[in-house]
Amino acid sequence: MKIAVIPGDGIGPEVVEQTIVVLNAVGRKFNHRFYFEEVLMGGTAIDAVGVPLPDETLEICRNSDAVLLGAVGGPKWDNMPGDLRPEAGLLGIRKALGLFANIRPAKLFPQLKSASTLKEEVFAEDGLDILVVRELTGDLYFGDKGREELPQGGQRAWDVAVYTTHEVERVARVAFDIARGRRRKVASIDKANVLESSRLWREVVSRVGKDYPDIELSHMYVDNAAMQLVRNPAQFDVILTTNMFGDILSDEAAMLTGSLGMLPSASLGQGRPGLYEPVHGSAPDIAGQDKANPIATIMSAAMMLRYSFGMDDEALAVEESVGRVLQQGYRTPDIAGTGMVVVGTREMGRLIAENI
Ligand code: NAD
Repeated sequence: MKIAVIPGDGIGPEVVEQTIVVLNAVGRKFNHRFYFEEVLMGGTAIDAVGVPLPDETLEICRNSDAVLLGAVGGPKWDNMPGDLRPEAGLLGIRKALGLFANIRPAKLFPQLKSASTLKEEVFAEDGLDILVVRELTGDLYFGDKGREELPQGGQRAWDVAVYTTHEVERVARVAFDIARGRRRKVASIDKANVLESSRLWREVVSRVGKDYPDIELSHMYVDNAAMQLVRNPAQFDVILTTNMFGDILSDEAAMLTGSLGMLPSASLGQGRPGLYEPVHGSAPDIAGQDKANPIATIMSAAMMLRYSFGMDDEALAVEESVGRVLQQGYRTPDIAGTGMVVVGTREMGRLIAENI
């Protein structure tokens, strides 16, 4: 398997380095060869070649089986013009790879229950394990938008929410397929009582659901879903939702687990390499200090094994190894509690690799 690796800026290179250590341990244990090709993106690319996303990077990513990304950005490049900022690289690569489904698991390890802002009794004995599938190409983000002066003074601004049958169908299939490998439940979230685009969404999801009779499909309005996520999050398995609602609900679901340093993500397209990255940014405040938590990136690599390479056992080995290391009491500073053994980025990576 050929993996394009974008270490990026800030803590990006530190967390990516440990993820490669873990993937190599998986390779040894399961007899796979992973080839890593490092490429430039973000601030480091701006410094080296003057643009955030060099053509060569795109070319190598397109010709790989998957892309692993650390994080990009930092104060050094904050005053660059919009299209020359590190974040422009992120948007560019997502577009170039045709990524339409963003997948964000919110998994709370039972060892970290106290890190959540919710009461511990809200969670099941074994923590929490839900997953949000967010559509990425439609909705308010990409519909007609504009602003005009009004004759009576003041202005009018609009963003139109648009979905096509095709867009809904392909992301729905991603959610149903993922649910098959989990607890076989999909909750589709919309606002079909008010929005026409949501009514189309609901019709198409229901129709696609008929192809998956083994999956329990339910529909929920987004206001109720926001409430249910904090009232009884364990009722959910896979949450399927639109670009706008997914933006908000995936952050809400993620924060149930307490720590940014623990949250992985994947973005998938059709027949093209998926992009795997932690939810967090480049954390310039702790960069270069061996303090960053590499688990979000390591768990992103587990998603890569599962969704891009079909290596379920290997993915599980990584996830279980993370659980074991936490069980043994090892913590990076961001998740450390009393009585825990505080370790750095490198030691955390080494421990997880060793436990595989
Ligand atoms: P951030 O996620 O980088 O950091 C927020 C806080 O969480 C900081 O205190 C940081 O130290 C902490 N944190 C984040 N990841 C951590 C980890 N793995 N271990 C321990 N602590 C961790 O968000 P920010 O400070 O708003 O942004 C910093 C830079 O990152 C900005 O330039 C921003 O544009 C960029 N950014 C990039 C991405 C991306 O590459 N996908 C995403 C978000 C932000």
